[in-house]
Amino acid sequence: MRLGSPRAIVLTAVLILWAALPVWAADTSIVVLAPTATDDRLEPSRQAVAFWNDRLDELGVDAELTEPVVVVDSPVARELENYARQVATRAVGLPGGAFEPAPPAALTDLDGDIIVLLSRQDIMSFTWPMPRVSPPRYFVVVRAVRGPYRNDAMVSRHVVAHELGHALGLDHNAEPHTLMCGPCQPLTAVPDATGFLPLTDGDRARLRGLHGRQASSR
Ligand SMILES: [Zn+2]
Repeated sequence: MRLGSPRAIVLTAVLILWAALPVWAADTSIVVLAPTATDDRLEPSRQAVAFWNDRLDELGVDAELTEPVVVVDSPVARELENYARQVATRAVGLPGGAFEPAPPAALTDLDGDIIVLLSRQDIMSFTWPMPRVSPPRYFVVVRAVRGPYRNDAMVSRHVVAHELGHALGLDHNAEPHTLMCGPCQPLTAVPDATGFLPLTDGDRARLRGLHGRQASSR
């Protein structure tokens, strides 16, 4: 086939699309950086990881989050806090792309697929894909909550679970009472039997599509 024929162009486009689809590692490792060993977001973070492993198990996909490695008072925390503030003050809704500046080595040198910073700052919680990295790696920032919700483990574990949902490939949905809501109505949302806000059928289908694929290709 002559290169440049319409058919060749279509095939090329399909190949590029295929190459662009992220492929997750079956075991996704997590490092949690905490300001102190008694941080009240640590146990909720573990609960959020357990929640996701239960859901992934139910879905029958070959993916698992490993037991989080907790690093207390890390020497790189200050640099990560600075980077977190930079990202949070830019357009957080925009995905990282080809023009995204490289994250600091202090972040990328950490040995984990998902780096969770339990921040000292009262900034927006977010999940940020590290640019040009395959398999995907994510920087998850969990805000220091001040005000009436401070120390509320229920809020913390939902924030962490929601952000880990993004790191597993989920987007927001329009249902305001679900885990991956955006926008949300948290005051009237009710957890289901899992103790967490529910996933939608769309969330489950996407998780199967993203994480079930590698199981069949191995
Ligand atoms: Zn979100």
